[in-house]
Amino acid sequence: MNEIVGKMNAVDRTNPREILSAALDHFDSKVALSMSFQVGGCVMLDMINQMGREVDVVSLDTGRLPEETYECAEEILRRYGIEIKWVHPRHEVVESMIREKGMFSFRENVENRKECCGIRKVEPLVRALEPYDAWITGRRVDQSKMRSELSLVEEDPAHPGKIKVNPILHWTVGDLWEYVHEHHVPYNRLYDEGYLSIGCECCTRPCVGGEDERAGRWWGEGDDHKECGLHIGGSGI
Ligand code: SF4
Repeated sequence: MNEIVGKMNAVDRTNPREILSAALDHFDSKVALSMSFQVGGCVMLDMINQMGREVDVVSLDTGRLPEETYECAEEILRRYGIEIKWVHPRHEVVESMIREKGMFSFRENVENRKECCGIRKVEPLVRALEPYDAWITGRRVDQSKMRSELSLVEEDPAHPGKIKVNPILHWTVGDLWEYVHEHHVPYNRLYDEGYLSIGCECCTRPCVGGEDERAGRWWGEGDDHKECGLHIGGSGI
């Protein structure tokens, strides 16, 4: 951890290209870009491509993603000629949850919602990250109050021994869209319908009237709950 922290201290913290380059140099093939086909991931993938670098792309297919997300993934495949390592939930566990609690248990309470996220996202991510020492996320401080304390590089308590790198931490959503338009980056067309953060179809809605970016996720829950469990705690720079 100290070595990568030292390297990150030498880069411009507001320049995702420098941060990505330092992470790829340091971790080589042992770092993956985690893509949920939100605008931040699309921008970082384009940057990596423009730098002439390569990175493994891992993505969670929860089984409940909007078709627009799959379309975005297909467009990205065509544009960059990459392989996307889709990881799926364990079908027998999903079937058991549905048998016991129905198709929409996640609507009933936070506990059920977290169980569903645990089965469809959290456990598959553990498997997805197995081959890697580090992963690149698209988290930013301007996304929500809960994300205002994040660090550029963090130890990842949810995946002990692994490190999270947050290259666009200090970019705003405006910075991302400026990049998308300038470089014609493929993006999820749900953004054109008022969505600001995109996850599973049934747990995501468009945002209205200046709501913060995460307001369209699990909107029945208080701000304290609004993470799916992929990101917990952490310490770093
Ligand atoms: S976002 Fe909703 S559907 Fe998707 S895994 Fe979480 S609770 Fe389940």
